[in-house]
Amino acid sequence: MDYSAQRIYLSTPHMGGEELDYVHDAFQKNWIAPLGENVDGFEEDLQNYTRREHVTAVTSGTAAMHLALIICDVQPGDEVICQSLTFAATANPIKYQGATPIFVDSEAETWNMDPQLLEQTILDRIQQKGEKPKAIIVVHLYGMPAKIDSILKIGQKYDIPVIEDAAEALGASVNGRKCGNFGKLSILSFNGNKIITTSGGGALLGNEEGLISKARFLSTQARDPAPHYQHSELGYNYRMSNIVAGIGRGQIKVLDKHVEKRRSNHNYYFEELNGNWLETGYNDSSSEVGFSRNNETNGIYFLQEPDGYFSNRWLTTILVNPEESGGITREHIRLSLAEQNIECRPLWKPMHQQPLYKDSIYYGNGLSDTLFKYGLCLPSGSNLTEQELSRIVDSIKVCLREYRSQVI
Ligand SMILES: *Cc1c(COP(=O)(O)O)cnc(C)c1O
Repeated sequence: MDYSAQRIYLSTPHMGGEELDYVHDAFQKNWIAPLGENVDGFEEDLQNYTRREHVTAVTSGTAAMHLALIICDVQPGDEVICQSLTFAATANPIKYQGATPIFVDSEAETWNMDPQLLEQTILDRIQQKGEKPKAIIVVHLYGMPAKIDSILKIGQKYDIPVIEDAAEALGASVNGRKCGNFGKLSILSFNGNKIITTSGGGALLGNEEGLISKARFLSTQARDPAPHYQHSELGYNYRMSNIVAGIGRGQIKVLDKHVEKRRSNHNYYFEELNGNWLETGYNDSSSEVGFSRNNETNGIYFLQEPDGYFSNRWLTTILVNPEESGGITREHIRLSLAEQNIECRPLWKPMHQQPLYKDSIYYGNGLSDTLFKYGLCLPSGSNLTEQELSRIVDSIKVCLREYRSQVI
């Protein structure tokens, strides 16, 4: 690990200043162990921010997803529909439950679950298996909200609960409605790389009190009300601690500022790299990502927000089309920046391509494969300085030029 000051990371924790006050307060009152004012306060903050009725804070986004599946009564042998283009933590809890993930590909306007393909998948699963999938997990990747209205409608039509993985999308919204507020249940993550962090943590959100209090019960070892330790159900140790929640209370105060800065990082990259917007609206359900292929461009593309969509631009992502960039691929850029001590990463490798899930059922159109092939995440922290941003952009420009001159 390189801990030198010069290294630029993809996304690092960014403290606002008031976090330590809440942590000190917990120390002073000796409320170190689970529960306490900070946990209550943080849950209330999240409730107010997302306008959800009920929230429970837990140890991670993964734990929140696991609880969401348990609450949706996902049992061994059940099928759960899950977006293929995502981080493994979205899908792994399906396996924790002994259930079967059914992966669905993305569409080109948001890079998230394709509603048309989702409906085809549901119909085909009913035909193949003779029963409906137990839940649908949709993700807002990189902070870009999914086509959530269409997905919720399909969920309603077939009476299948939708679980919203908003781990990357806190602060994003669709027509003014915040991510974390859609579907039967939503999950958030406060891992170190997310838009706000508690060093590690997550939350489960919903509007039905019974569901969230059930999750809270399961997250604290499922203790029956009795003076001794008595258990009728399988419990987990998933509750967020009062220390960690204190960090969260400070972080939520700077959340909107973080969103603003990440969006300005995105603008900066778009301007400085002479970015092109990906074309959309041509052909749904295809592997076309929207390159214009007109030779006038430098092959560096960005994803635009659809009308009414507000992305938190958690990570700035680009697609690099070697046919237009003079042969330069996203790997050329990634490796060249790595030499300059700048961290970039390919987009999430789709779940259906993962060794862990290679035998899983997948309903595809090829789009997520294309995105993985061409896509790169650029450093996007809300604490990036102007100097760092210009160092990154200069390094990319040098890579584009040097490679061209070698080829010519
Ligand atoms: C980070 C992340 C998670 C998991 O959250 P943790 O808090 O790290 O467990 C789940 N889904 C997505 C899309 C994520 O990016």
